Amino acid sequence: MGSSGWEHRSRIPVEREYMDKEQLWQKCVDFHGHTCGGLTIGYRAALYAIDLLGLSPGDGDGAGCLSADEEIVCIAENDACGCDAIQVILGCSIGKGNLLFHMRGKQAFSFYDRRTGRSVRLVLKPRPEGLSRGQSMEYYHSIAPEEMFDVKETRIPLPLEARSFGAHICSRCGEETGENWMRVADGEMICLDCFEAYDRFDV
Ligand SMILES: [Zn+2]
Ligand SMILES: [Zn+2]
Repeated sequence: MGSSGWEHRSRIPVEREYMDKEQLWQKCVDFHGHTCGGLTIGYRAALYAIDLLGLSPGDGDGAGCLSADEEIVCIAENDACGCDAIQVILGCSIGKGNLLFHMRGKQAFSFYDRRTGRSVRLVLKPRPEGLSRGQSMEYYHSIAPEEMFDVKETRIPLPLEARSFGAHICSRCGEETGENWMRVADGEMICLDCFEAYDRFDV
């Protein structure tokens, strides 16, 4: 690998030690379904975020999960493999509403800690050209976090906490729908799939 422009290191650089890394990686693989370079990107981003935001073990009360509720928020700029590692390690999940998407096709992730107000945006640096699938995974496992990501300030303000809304029956399809997703037409509550948009302002 000497000619590829990077040097293999035998140890994983130490972000904050809060859990057995191999066990943590295995948890990510179990959740994701396979090992791949993309998963490694999310895995390394999550560990780096733990370090940069000063999160400590036991911050969340779920086993190995740092965000039992919505303490930690991640806004991902892609919906690729790496998002699964972030769900596993940080507990930023779709179901809790603390994994959000700002789809830009970038390997970039913003992390927020609601308790401290601290946040950071990590952007993956370009990797050396010509690496095979296996080589890039090994590369992403072995380089130092600061070689892997640019550390930037977040640009998106911390989103509102998730809240629940009342629900109503759509008067067309009869399906119960959250009221924040409904429209009113002829005085009736209608879901977005049944609603016919009237828009002559999009010119
Ligand atoms: Zn994958
Ligand atoms: Zn409907």
